[in-house]
Amino acid sequence: MKPVFRILRHALFFTFLTLITQIGGLIWLLSLYLNKMVQKRRPIRGLRWAFFLVLYTLTTIFIVPPVAYYCCDRVRLPVFSNPYLEPENIVYSFFNRTFVKPELLKALEEVAQQMQEKYPGAAIWYMDANFPFIDGYPLHPHLTHDIGKSIDITFYWKNAKTGVPMRKNPSPHGYGLWAEAKPGEFDYAKHCKQQGYWYIGYDGTIANWGCNKKNYTFDEARTGELMRLIAAHPAFGRILIQPHLKQRFGLQQYDNIVPQDCFSARHDDHVHVQLK
Ligand SMILES: [Zn+2]
Repeated sequence: MKPVFRILRHALFFTFLTLITQIGGLIWLLSLYLNKMVQKRRPIRGLRWAFFLVLYTLTTIFIVPPVAYYCCDRVRLPVFSNPYLEPENIVYSFFNRTFVKPELLKALEEVAQQMQEKYPGAAIWYMDANFPFIDGYPLHPHLTHDIGKSIDITFYWKNAKTGVPMRKNPSPHGYGLWAEAKPGEFDYAKHCKQQGYWYIGYDGTIANWGCNKKNYTFDEARTGELMRLIAAHPAFGRILIQPHLKQRFGLQQYDNIVPQDCFSARHDDHVHVQLK
């Protein structure tokens, strides 16, 4: 392959890894360097990938958390240590997308514990939060997950046939299963689409590849309880959900619960919560 194409390919890969994991691009460059050193002595196929996977995994587990804590006051949300506060998909943790300020972790642990009193086993299953480093560095595609104070939490669902509450969200990535407006409720998603924001449902398209929505029904009882606990917790500031859910759950008195802008992704599949 010509050198210019090789450099371009590595540049694209560096950008992609940096966008989705923050540290992956740098680890890739380090892997290329180590690979070059070793290949000079003895050619080994696939070595750079092995370097990358091992270095990325070790850095993610052992180096990123203490550095993020001391330099940026951010901690990784529990992966296995708290059964009431878990990632919806472990990929979010492995990609370093689940770092928050310690105050946000504390508030989430408290709400998760309160949730157990009424619905034992209904954990907070979270998705994207923030990267470990640099204030103002956004976690794509979210623009406001940039200072360690934001997190997305998925809604609850039930098996449509049996009515049994589901563990985690049926959508593999936790987004995209809409709790749509019922007849008589204000349909904000429809309103936004009519304004020309046709793309706001792309999460739903991705979710459809991994699960069939007909097999599930929205668990209003558990989701409503979680929303009321979040709304009542003094640590939280801005909370984003679609207007029909705010009304359905009786949260009209909370001025900090607002809809997202029309150009942002829908919030009738998850709630976006920010620390004050
Ligand atoms: Zn969010």
